[in-house]
Amino acid sequence: MLDFLKQNDPEIAEQIMRELARQNEKIELIASENLVSPTVMEAQGSVLTNKYAEGYPGNRYHAGCEHVDVIESIAIERARQLFGAQHANVQPHSGVNANLAVYVAMLKPGDTILGMQLDMGGHLSHGSKANISGKFYSCHFYGVDRESELIDYGAMQQLARDYKPRMIVAGASSYSRVIDYAPFREVADEIGALFLVDMAHISGIVAAGQHPNPVPYADFVTTTTTKTIRGARGGLILCRQEYGRKIDKAIFPGIQGGPQLQTIAGKAVCFREAMSGDFKSYIGRVLKNARAMAAALEQRGYRIVAGGTDTHLFLVDLRSRGLTGASAEEALDAVGITVNKNMIPFDPEKPQTTSGIRIGTSAMTTRGLDEAGMLQIAELIDKTLSGIGNPAVQTEVRRQVREICREYPIYGYTFKQEVADE
Ligand SMILES: *Cc1c(COP(=O)(O)O)cnc(C)c1O
Repeated sequence: MLDFLKQNDPEIAEQIMRELARQNEKIELIASENLVSPTVMEAQGSVLTNKYAEGYPGNRYHAGCEHVDVIESIAIERARQLFGAQHANVQPHSGVNANLAVYVAMLKPGDTILGMQLDMGGHLSHGSKANISGKFYSCHFYGVDRESELIDYGAMQQLARDYKPRMIVAGASSYSRVIDYAPFREVADEIGALFLVDMAHISGIVAAGQHPNPVPYADFVTTTTTKTIRGARGGLILCRQEYGRKIDKAIFPGIQGGPQLQTIAGKAVCFREAMSGDFKSYIGRVLKNARAMAAALEQRGYRIVAGGTDTHLFLVDLRSRGLTGASAEEALDAVGITVNKNMIPFDPEKPQTTSGIRIGTSAMTTRGLDEAGMLQIAELIDKTLSGIGNPAVQTEVRRQVREICREYPIYGYTFKQEVADE
C-alpha cells in the first residue's frame, strides 16, 4: 500500500497511514461520513486525473475525450436511472457547488430564496450570510415547530406567501425525520416559485427506496455523492429536461472549469453500487441501527430531538444531563468516539457551544456493526458522558472502543500491518 508515496514523499505517506489508523481505531459517528468501497477509490486514483475535458460528452473544448465521454455518459445515465430523473449533471465538485449552480442558472442577484434555518437543521448554502448564497440573494428562513420539532409546514407556506421567493429550498443537514415535499410543491405552484430539494444527507436512503424521492416534486434536486450514498467526494444535480441546458451552462462555463473525470468515474461506480440489492439491505441496516442507538440513549435519560429518527441520523439534547455539545464532543473524542456538536432547535447556546450532538450510523454500519453493536456504543457514550473527569472510566471506555474497532477493521487493515509500517 502507498508504495510510491512511501518511497518518494514519506512525509505525506506517513500522514495518510496515520489517517488510515485513525479511521480504523475510532468509532465514527459523524453523520456526513462514510467509507467508500475500494472500487470507488480505484476509480478516483486513476489516470483520468490527467485529462482535460471542458464541456460535456460529445461537445468538448479539448481533443482526446473519446473514453472520458463514455465514462461521463455512463455516470449521467446511471444517475438518471437511479433517481428517475430526466436530466443529470455529474460535474459539480461538491454539494455546495451543485446548489450554487442551480442559483446561478435560475436566479438574478438580489432575488429571494426561502430556505430552512441553519440552526434548525438547514445548510449554510441555503442562504446563510456566511455563504455566497446569503450574500448574493435575499434570504428568508422557515424552521421547525417548537413542540414537535418537525418542520412547520404551515408556517413555511405562510412565509412563502409573505415573501414571494423566486426559489424555495428544502433539505437539511441535521433533521432526523422524513421531509414531506408536497406542501413545498403546493405553495411553490401557488406563488410561482421554483422548488429545489437538496437531498445531500439522505440521497443513499432515497436511492434505496427508503425515503420518499424528491425528484417527482422538485424542479431541481441536488446532492453530495458522499454521505449515505457512500461515493466519491463531489456533487450531482438532477432536473427536468427543460432546465437541463441552463444547469449545464451554469456549471460550465458558469462556475467551474474542467470536470474532474477521476471523481466522475468514482460517482459512476457509486451509482452502480447504489442500484444493488446489497446497498438496499445496507441502508435498511443503517436505519435500523440509527433507531436502535437513539432508543438506547433515550432509555439512558437522553432526550432525542423530534422524538427519534426515520433516517441515518439523530440529534441528542444534552441539557438534561447538564452538558453542552462542545463538552460532550470533547469527552467522546478523548475516548475515540467521533461525533460533532450541533445546534438543536431553539438552542439557547452559541453555535461554538451548542446544546446537542449529532450522531449518524452510516460509517459504522458499513464496517459491519448491527443493532447489538449500536447498543454497545450507546452504553459507551453514556459511560463517557456520565464519567467526565474520571480517568479510570476514560481508560476503560478507550479500551472497549479499540476492541470494537479491531473486530470490524476497515479495508482489510490489520493492527499487525500498522506495527510493521512504523
Ligand atoms: C453536506 C451538505 C452539503 C455540502 O456538501 P459539500 O460537498 O461539502 O459542499 C450541502 N447541502 C447539505 C444539505 C448538506 O448536508
